[in-house]
Amino acid sequence: MCIFCRIASGELPASVVYEDEKTIAFLDIQPINPGHVLVIPKAHAESLVDLSPEDAAQMMRVGQIIDRALRASSLRCEGVNLFVADGAAAGQEVGHAHLHVFPRFEEDGFGIRLDSAERATPGRELLNETAIKLKQAVDSL
Ligand code: 5GP
Ligand code: ZN
Repeated sequence: MCIFCRIASGELPASVVYEDEKTIAFLDIQPINPGHVLVIPKAHAESLVDLSPEDAAQMMRVGQIIDRALRASSLRCEGVNLFVADGAAAGQEVGHAHLHVFPRFEEDGFGIRLDSAERATPGRELLNETAIKLKQAVDSL
């Protein structure tokens, strides 16, 4: 059984903040900021794409509940990031799909390199070419 399945079954300890029939949410052991929560479906699936649509939807519903709770709590929270690492190349280390929900505040030191100054602006023609490739894949699902 994977480490998150062992947490979901109660075999391993975790600081649980929410639980329902399909999901459980608990604190990350190495938080980016205090209040960093992992929301997982109880049913094991490695990738987001392997989840049932119901489990994927419920994971995001619970993410919204945790976002609200962080903002309502006494923890420092000026904003919230919700993040899924889907695949090792995307930074996934635990092979059980999970949604990170963590509070953010000014100068907390966390960064995702999304600065628009560092990104190319491909132009409409190239954007459309990429969109065609993706849309064909969407239509084939
Ligand atoms: P990933 O990189 O796969 O998206 O994130 C995995 C997260 O799980 C990391 O933030 C890591 O700190 C957390 N984590 C790994 N092992 C455990 C554990 O045994 N218990 C808890 N609560 N979190 C864990
Ligand atoms: Zn698992």
